[in-house]
Parts: sequence; structure tokens; C-alpha cells
Amino acid sequence: MSAHENPPNVPPLGGSGRPLVEGPADPEHDPTASYALEPEYVERLTSRLLATSGRSVRVETPLTGAPLAHIPQSTDGDVEEAFVRARRAQAIWARTSLDERAAMLLRLHDLVLERQDEIIDLTVWESGKARKHAFDEPLHIALTARYYARTAHQHLDTQRKIGVVPALTRVEVNRVPKGVVGIISPWNYPFTMALCDGLPALLAGNAVVTKPDSQTMLTALLGARLLDEAGFPKDLWQVVAGPGSQVGTSIVTRADYVCFTGSTATGKIIARQCAERLIGCSLELGGKNPLLVLRDADLEKAAEGAVRASFSNAGQLCVSMERMFVADQVYDRFVERFVSRTKAMTLGASMEWGNDMGSLISQDQLDTVVAHVDDAVAKGARVLAGGRARPDLGPYFYEPTILEGVTPEMTCFGHETFGPVIALYRFHDEADAIARANEGEYGLNGSIYSQDGDRARAIAREIRCGTVNVNEAFGATFASIDSPMGGMRESGMGRRQGSEGVHRYTESQSVGTQRLIRFAPMLGMSDETYAKVMTANLKFMKKLGRA
Ligand code: NAD
Repeated sequence: MSAHENPPNVPPLGGSGRPLVEGPADPEHDPTASYALEPEYVERLTSRLLATSGRSVRVETPLTGAPLAHIPQSTDGDVEEAFVRARRAQAIWARTSLDERAAMLLRLHDLVLERQDEIIDLTVWESGKARKHAFDEPLHIALTARYYARTAHQHLDTQRKIGVVPALTRVEVNRVPKGVVGIISPWNYPFTMALCDGLPALLAGNAVVTKPDSQTMLTALLGARLLDEAGFPKDLWQVVAGPGSQVGTSIVTRADYVCFTGSTATGKIIARQCAERLIGCSLELGGKNPLLVLRDADLEKAAEGAVRASFSNAGQLCVSMERMFVADQVYDRFVERFVSRTKAMTLGASMEWGNDMGSLISQDQLDTVVAHVDDAVAKGARVLAGGRARPDLGPYFYEPTILEGVTPEMTCFGHETFGPVIALYRFHDEADAIARANEGEYGLNGSIYSQDGDRARAIAREIRCGTVNVNEAFGATFASIDSPMGGMRESGMGRRQGSEGVHRYTESQSVGTQRLIRFAPMLGMSDETYAKVMTANLKFMKKLGRA
């Protein structure tokens, strides 16, 4: 079977290749509704859920407010059943070879690229984002799948370590899967957030029980279907749906390890629950990310990067920038360029390519953005671009907004907006800029624009963020899957990507084999003589330069 063919038990999702239509009413559920997706298509996706409560939640597209689907909701019993099935599947999966698992990841890579139109369509319907921002999702999953497939042995093979007695003590470390990993993910990148943390978990021999955000469940379910098609056993990847405080908690109380992406407030709740059970967790949380434009920056490049840094996915991106510190010497010239590029951005509710920014996801997100900007303006901030909602484009649209004169009394000074709002600050010397960039509790992503790479990298070491990008907003680190990604301070614990991103799902197990001698007096030696011999031995080993 070629990589893109469906296994016999998995029907293809879109018969015509473009399964998504401006659709007719779905009289079975709501005779007055004009559904944006074909009900049969939705049903094929939701059938992948383990959800027997009989209750469902209606989701609407942020593009127009039209209903999209009814998402069946899971009970605590469903979560229990998901773990039973996942544990059974994991016991078999853990005995498969790394090469077999890696081959499935490479099949997923191909499938994701072949089916990118379907993935992007569904992502745009559910999230309202611009098509070019939706493309980042299959791109990131393809990168992640290829990286972990190609580095599987490097991360997961048994490794020889230094034995205490040269030649006579053989020590090796096995990477043993944790078991069943619980993954709780947010709505902002519904395809990549639903899958990217799970791929290394599967590679390491685990099963996964996942609860994607309710607003973007269909895209996450499409991801599950693509895993099935890539050949992963179906029970290895369980999907449940429901409110985080109920279904999310049900997962945390049963999982062997939890991977959470979302707000810092929820992350703290989950950290406490995991601590109580003495299980590990990785927490990818919020940020108030700083971008520095140094006096020697290429201002055209910096202005172009600043637009992407601030307004990608309408600012609903954990690594996007909300604070920009610009050197006094170039401030006016940079701001002129940045403002004019921002004002030229095209906004719109569309399935087509071409728009620079789409909608926010919900009324809640819009309310937060409006509240932050209105509060800042009321307290004296100046609006250089944007600053208003655009109900003429769609229910949750808000213009890309640049503020100047933001002060500590304003909510948006230190609180994450998670929207298309950036505050500009001048700085006189770089030490001051670094200190201000490090203010606050967060520490997720930073960015520095300068034509002196060495200087920028030296400054990066002083920025308290888990990732720092030089002459780029976030792509240089986020898309380099070999480099760890995560937050310092209240932006998180643990790392996704790289070796840390897969090792978090394993227990390291040391196996030591001793030959010929034992760790006790031998041949009638007294304890005192044994201590002397060992002391001499320690001194000799140090002289030899051994670790
Ligand atoms: P959120 O914390 O409200 O929700 C995230 C997920 O957690 C959802 O699936 C939700 O249902 C679930 N949840 C909520 N309460 C729960 C509970 N008590 N127990 C278990 N699960 C629970 O976050 P949000 O507002 O939807 O997402 C936006 C936030 O996510 C922003 O702060 C953003 O910075 C952050 N984020 C971080 C990263 C990263 O990689 N660091 C990536 C994306 C988003």
C-alpha cells in the first residue's frame, strides 16, 4: 500500500477532494441552520471520539458565526474506557521496533502534505484564521514527523555509559515508555497543537489520550484520522471531548504523564494535580514576549519581521510579540516603516489565500482585546494603527493595533493580551532594554534585530526566555525541531521538540552488569584495607583523567 492510500477500515474523508461546502441545512439537528460543513463529513470525524453522554455542544465558525457542527461530549466513564483501550494498545505497541514507528511518522509526513488543503480548510473554518497562517500547521507537523522519524535511534536507542570500574562494569541506559500520556491542548493552532506533542510520545512507545479544545475539535479529529491512515493502531490515540475542568481533570487523574499547552492559570492547576500523583508534566504556557530592535538593525527587515511577530494568527500565538523595545537612534524611522506596513495589511473572512490576517476565534478573545486597548487608551496610550473592532468583516475581527505610551497602570503592560496588539517602547541603552524585556513573570520567546549576529546572540543569553530568535520573530526556533522549545519562569516547565521533547515521555532505566570483582572486601581483606585500596584507586583514576 502506498503512503497515501487508506487502510481498508478507514474511509477517505472527502470524496470529491474538497469535502467542505457552504452547505444546506441539516434538518436532523436544526432545521433552521445553514451548516458550513457537510453533516456526513462532520459525522465521520466525530465518530473518532469516545463520547457517550448523549450531550453535544454546538460550535460555530468565527468567520461568519454560522453553525459548524455538534460535538458529542465525553463522560468520566468514557475517559476511563479510553485509558483501558490505550493501555491495552500500548502494551503491544511498546514491543514494535523503532524503525516500524518511524516509518509510520514518515507516512504521516506525506499524508499531511498531500491533504494540506483539507487540513487548512477545516482549520480556517474552525479558527477563522487567514489561510497563510493555517498553512503553518501542516508545515509544522510535517517538520515534526520527519525530524522524529529520522532521529529516532539517536534519541531512543539504549546508550552505553561510563562504568565505575573500567572494562569490568558495563552500564547502559534504556529509554522505557511512560505508558499512557495525557495531552490537553488549546484552540489557537488546532492541528499542530493537537498532534505535535503526541508524535514523539508515540515514537517512544506510549499511547495517548487527548482532549483538544472544544472550539477546534474537528481539526484535531482530522489529525487522529490521519494517524489512523498512516498506520498507527487506532486504540493508541484516544480522543475525548468536554470542558477542561471535568474531562481534562479526568485525564490528569489517570495519565502516567501529562503534556499541557494553554494558559498559565490552568497550567498551575494541572501542575498541582500532577504533583499530588507524583507524575511528571510538561507545561507550555503563556507569554508577554519582547522584541528588541537594536540601533544597527536593518530597519526594513525589522519592520517586516515585526508585522509577522505581532500579528501572525491575529496575535493568538504563544510566541508572538506583545512588547517591542526600539533603540532611540532608529525609533522614528523604524516606527514609520512598521506602522505603514501594518496599515497596509489586508483583513478578511475568506477560505482563499491573500489575506494578511483573519478573525479572532471567539467573543471572549474579542472582549479581552477590546478591554486591553480601551483601558490603555483611557489611561493615555496613543493608537498608531488599528484600535477598533471590524464587525463589518466578521463577528470577531479586530484590526492589527500598535500602541505607544503604554505604562505600568495599563492592563496590557504586563498581562498577556493574546491578540493583535503590540506596545512600542523607546530605549536609550541596551542594558536598559534587556532589563525591561526581562520584567514580569513570563519568559517564553524573545526576538532581537541587529546586523551584528555575535552581539545579538550575546544579548540573547541575557534574555530570560526559553527561545530567542535573531533577525526573525519566532520561526527560526519554532520550526527548527532539533532545538528545544518552551518557557522559563511562568511560561512553563519542560520542553517540546528536540531530545527533551521525546525524553520527557520516557523513564531512563540504568542497567549495570558487574564482572570479576565485587563492591566489597575480597580475598579476606579487612574493611579498613578495602577503604585504603579504594582510596588509592580513586586517586589513580583522577590522575588518569577519567570522569
Ligand atoms: P486554557 O488554559 O483556558 O485552555 C487550554 C486547554 O486546557 C483547553 O483544552 C481547555 O479545555 C483545557 N482546560 C481548561 N481548564 C482545565 C482544567 N482545570 N484542567 C484540565 N484542562 C483544562 O488556555 P486557552 O486560553 O484556551 O489558550 C490560550 C493560552 O494558551 C494562552 O495563554 C497562550 O499563550 C497559551 N499557549 C501556549 C503555548 C506554548 O507553547 N507555550 C501554545 C499555545 C497556547
